[in-house]
Amino acid sequence: MPAIAELLQQDQARLASALGLSVTDARFEAQLLLAQALQVNRAWLIAHGDEMPADAAFAHYRLLLERRLQGEPMAYIFGEKEFYGISLKVTPDVLIPRPETELLVELALACIPADAPCRVLDLGTGSGAIAVSLATLRPQAEIVAVDMSQAALQVAQANAGRLQLSNICFICSDWWQHVPAAPRFDVIVSNPPYIADGDSHLQQGDLRFEPITALAAGACGMSDLQRIISHAPDYLTATGTLLLEHGYDQGKAVRELLIQAGFGAVATHRDLAGVERVSTGQRT
Ligand code: GLN
Repeated sequence: MPAIAELLQQDQARLASALGLSVTDARFEAQLLLAQALQVNRAWLIAHGDEMPADAAFAHYRLLLERRLQGEPMAYIFGEKEFYGISLKVTPDVLIPRPETELLVELALACIPADAPCRVLDLGTGSGAIAVSLATLRPQAEIVAVDMSQAALQVAQANAGRLQLSNICFICSDWWQHVPAAPRFDVIVSNPPYIADGDSHLQQGDLRFEPITALAAGACGMSDLQRIISHAPDYLTATGTLLLEHGYDQGKAVRELLIQAGFGAVATHRDLAGVERVSTGQRT
């Protein structure tokens, strides 16, 4: 059996070639997998490079590495993903929370007062990433989190439970289907599926392992955004705000739909990569 440093060296090369990762990313992933199997942190691995891992831990590491070599996302292998500073449980029933979505949370937080009640709806909550972040940072807000997938709702509920949040209520619903029309919401947020059905990215990387229902939305990727925007005015208060994540090239189309649906103050915000990512509108 090779020593830890040698093992990492070998396996980072395997990961890089199997998954097309950069050397840095491959090294980081190999370290994370071995650290997990040995129940240590990465600093420990670096300090103990000349030691041999114990047999049982080594066998466990081999299993984790094999899964990753097959392309399974790190978040599913670990069952965890960090989002907005919160560690969330994730399973293959939910989309892996993305850093881009933190922009949606930031913009929503700006619309939710810190010291007054506010009704917030999260459509297509998945892991509950958005609902849980908002509920944590705005304890006075009352959040309704909706998903059509019962399995996803279980994950979202587990995440709310881990943080002992009591200000989120969960509804199983295909978009608006079972959302009560009253009382209305002050803020509606959604990170819906927005990738075109035939988009080649669906066959690449992590996306291959994620629920297709959380990713793809019709020929142009706009069908769910359309359904959300067209009915949102019926569920928002007179000055309520709708905030939507969308694809890098959908900003213009989403703004047009918002204007058509009667929204004012329509704006698009760019993510950290400089890409149009979240559009917002206020009911007028
Ligand atoms: N942002 C994700 C991606 O491009 C897609 C998430 C979504 O469809 N809501 O991988």
